[in-house]
Amino acid sequence: MSATLADAATGDVSAITGFVADTITFSNVDGPGNRFVVFLQGCNFDCVACHNPQTIPLAIGEHFRTSVADLLPRIRRAAPFLRGITVSGGEATLQPDFVHALFSAVQADPELARLDCFVDSNGTADDATWHRLAPVTHGTMIDLKCFDPDIHEQMTGQSNAPVLHSIELLHGMGLLYEVRLLILQGVNDDPALLRRTGEWLASVDPAMRVKMIAFRAHGARPHEPALVPPSHEALEAAAANLQVADLQLCLV
Ligand code: SF4
Repeated sequence: MSATLADAATGDVSAITGFVADTITFSNVDGPGNRFVVFLQGCNFDCVACHNPQTIPLAIGEHFRTSVADLLPRIRRAAPFLRGITVSGGEATLQPDFVHALFSAVQADPELARLDCFVDSNGTADDATWHRLAPVTHGTMIDLKCFDPDIHEQMTGQSNAPVLHSIELLHGMGLLYEVRLLILQGVNDDPALLRRTGEWLASVDPAMRVKMIAFRAHGARPHEPALVPPSHEALEAAAANLQVADLQLCLV
């Protein structure tokens, strides 16, 4: 029988389970330093450019069910080489009880307590979810697929209003590590749009860390018309258009 919130209430968070699609022992692209990454199964977006579309379905089998106790030994083995752990997806915040339990268990473990705990998210969680995760979370990376609401809806199937709100909220809570912009050539790289995006981000935090990620076709589903990976020159032009105030841009 799967663990419930009652387990959390009694302190046995290691028995709490979540739907885990995959884990990576070492990653240096999912937050600061070298990190153990847990990819949760299920997402509330359906992005045309998703690199891991197999993680989108929510209705999935029990074979994905993983307990916190299953993950802890794996994290302990890698811990000497890690700065922290990141929970990504899919959409991590759709399973807040599991994320909370995992982070709590890491912080209660003498071998793991020095690791920092980050969430990589599409930014759709509501305030209550962010406030629930805040006491056990050291930082967040939030994807902003597009500042223009119509293009955002075309790219993801959903409104960007909750994403913009989460960016403001998390910055105010001191938990926003980085905003990520996936650049899709001809879709969300209009110069005027990028300028407006940069101005808005700088209005939240003039020195915000912003990672601009070039779309790469690997892993993405076929699309008609085909999605175009931006050239390095196109990505640099996009960065020049986005640059406002002291935004700290990083191109990958
Ligand atoms: S938010 Fe991320 S995981 Fe979800 S569909 Fe979009 S790219 Fe894929």
